[in-house]
Amino acid sequence: MHIVCPRCQATNRVPDDRRHDGPSCGRCGAALLDGQPAELSDASFDAVVGRSELPVLVDFWAPWCGPCRQMAPQFAQAAQSLRGEVLFAKVNSDDHPRSAGRLGIRSIPTMVLFQGGREVARQSGAMSAAQIGQWLAQALQRA
Ligand SMILES: [Zn+2]
Repeated sequence: MHIVCPRCQATNRVPDDRRHDGPSCGRCGAALLDGQPAELSDASFDAVVGRSELPVLVDFWAPWCGPCRQMAPQFAQAAQSLRGEVLFAKVNSDDHPRSAGRLGIRSIPTMVLFQGGREVARQSGAMSAAQIGQWLAQALQRA
């Protein structure tokens, strides 16, 4: 399947059975699917969200937002447990307002789930790792 490198935006072909083996980017060597949320920018957003063949869950957040900071470790924990299944990503909406603006994000934290480059679900407000996992499972079933 195609996985886009969050660092250099190269499209990597990762065999389905190697998804859980910690593949790395063929161009820049960055770890792909390592279970860490990837930091996206306005520049990398479209490539990563649009061309990844795994579902992509994006957390829109900002450094001044208390609930966002509270949720960060929960989001990271969910990313680790769904590693290889869902690509977790974060957008700092202060530094990268274009992606958030285009999607009409009005409050943070807001999570938006994409599949095949299209939004399939969104959820505002902080959630625990378990809640994120449950919400994702339901959203992916409907998608
Ligand atoms: Zn790369």
